[in-house]
Amino acid sequence: MLPNFFASVVELIAETSTNLPPDVRVAMASALAAEEPATRAGQALSIIAQNIDQAESCDGPICQDTGMPTFEVNVPVGANQIWMRRQIREAVAEATRQGKLRPNSVDSITGENSGNNLGPGTPIVHFDQWDEPHIEIKLILKGGGCENTNAQYALPAELDHLGRADRTLEGVRKCILHAVWKAQGKGCSPGAVGVCVGGDRTSGYLHAKAQLFRTLDDVNPDGRLATLEAEIMDEANRLAIGPMGFSGKTSLIGCKIGALNRLPASFFVSIAYDCWAFRRLGVHLDAATGSIASWLYRDAGKPVVPMLAPDVVAAGFPRTGREVMLQAPITEGQVRALKVGDVVLISGRMFTGRDAVHTHLMKHEPPVDLNGGVLYHCGPVVAKGAGGPGGQGAGAAEDEWRILAAGPTTSIREEPYQADIIKRYGIRVVIGKGGMGPRTLAGLKDSGAVYLNAIGGAAQFYARCIERVTGVSLMEFGTPEAMWHLDVKDFPAIVTMDSHGNSLHRDVEQASGTVLASLTRT
Ligand code: SF4
Repeated sequence: MLPNFFASVVELIAETSTNLPPDVRVAMASALAAEEPATRAGQALSIIAQNIDQAESCDGPICQDTGMPTFEVNVPVGANQIWMRRQIREAVAEATRQGKLRPNSVDSITGENSGNNLGPGTPIVHFDQWDEPHIEIKLILKGGGCENTNAQYALPAELDHLGRADRTLEGVRKCILHAVWKAQGKGCSPGAVGVCVGGDRTSGYLHAKAQLFRTLDDVNPDGRLATLEAEIMDEANRLAIGPMGFSGKTSLIGCKIGALNRLPASFFVSIAYDCWAFRRLGVHLDAATGSIASWLYRDAGKPVVPMLAPDVVAAGFPRTGREVMLQAPITEGQVRALKVGDVVLISGRMFTGRDAVHTHLMKHEPPVDLNGGVLYHCGPVVAKGAGGPGGQGAGAAEDEWRILAAGPTTSIREEPYQADIIKRYGIRVVIGKGGMGPRTLAGLKDSGAVYLNAIGGAAQFYARCIERVTGVSLMEFGTPEAMWHLDVKDFPAIVTMDSHGNSLHRDVEQASGTVLASLTRT
């Protein structure tokens, strides 16, 4: 068998998780250049740029959600696909053990996390044979926040703000714009969309995701689709949803459209949304040894171009002097003084809690005192022992937890529970990303609490704001879902829902909806 195949796949996974490809870096650099530094969008992109550089320099995951590993493998005739699949699965388990992947494979019936990213359906590995003499493996790591913003339309359809979408390319255009508008900042915009026109429901989604393997700067060989891609890039960015849905100049960094034949009765438009943490790489392997012969999407001989100068990265969060400093536990008076748009820097104690914790807290008392507390929607990548990013965990004992990556997760999933939990346990600050709905907004007003939007995907940046892990509860839910007790320092986030009934998310959605309506063609 191929002696270096396993090591090559582990390296591919590690590089994909930690080192954003050059075309995505270029797109994000121009998004950063387009924004004024002191705006919300400018600050968000600055944090993202720092995060990209930090991940590359410490070989840490760019985002804590390392997503669903999806491998597309082309092999020469005669290759042993059964053996390769086993090796790929073992490589995924090894990369998880090394902290390059977060354990993300959860039993859908019991909720149990397998702990190694292996289970029915995970990872996804597709094989094809081809006429080339070498093996090609492409990998994409697409996280849950952006996966949840995927959309599929069956035409004809009636769409908010855009009216009827017919079975035409004009109807396709409306569907794509509608999907970008619906996603707002929830998929960690600015994002990219892969689109399939046609196919059936299953093949449509597969082909849409396959478009994400195209580079952002390629030109569609089909002139009709090339024109549509260019139109979407222009019009979607006119929506001004902006980074994280904060409003801004860049909402989309790529639009790639493919087409499949369809049944006469069906006309699906399938859209795969990927976030700015657009992690995809590939390799060509020697078919005799499994060694990496060359990389796809990047020139391994060229050094990585940093997003920012080293002194800018070292300086950390770009302050304007208007930031509000908060030390947890936090009082109702401090919270009521905050309003939408304020940038806060939080220090002190913070607890993580996501889906399993929220469900648990609806029926059980919390394992810690949450009164005046800060609840962070986050499922971190964790490990034991010294050597966390940016010095975090330096000198830690072998059995001491440290955080390898800790960005926010999508908050809207907790909408059914959040207001009750805030009220019941006296929580003052909820941190997440993408915003929450009217029930939570009313709860913030009623109880005197705020929602802060942290920068989605900035897992390395936020890991460096965590000074120490002081404990952990509810470990039976698995490491991403457990409640981690953290000591943080100057953790930056933006008030996007305040205790006076204001919501930046609602405002941006309405404003972008008005622009969307203006893009209707007669
Ligand atoms: S950047 Fe955002 S959407 Fe993308 S994987 Fe990370 S948390 Fe999910």
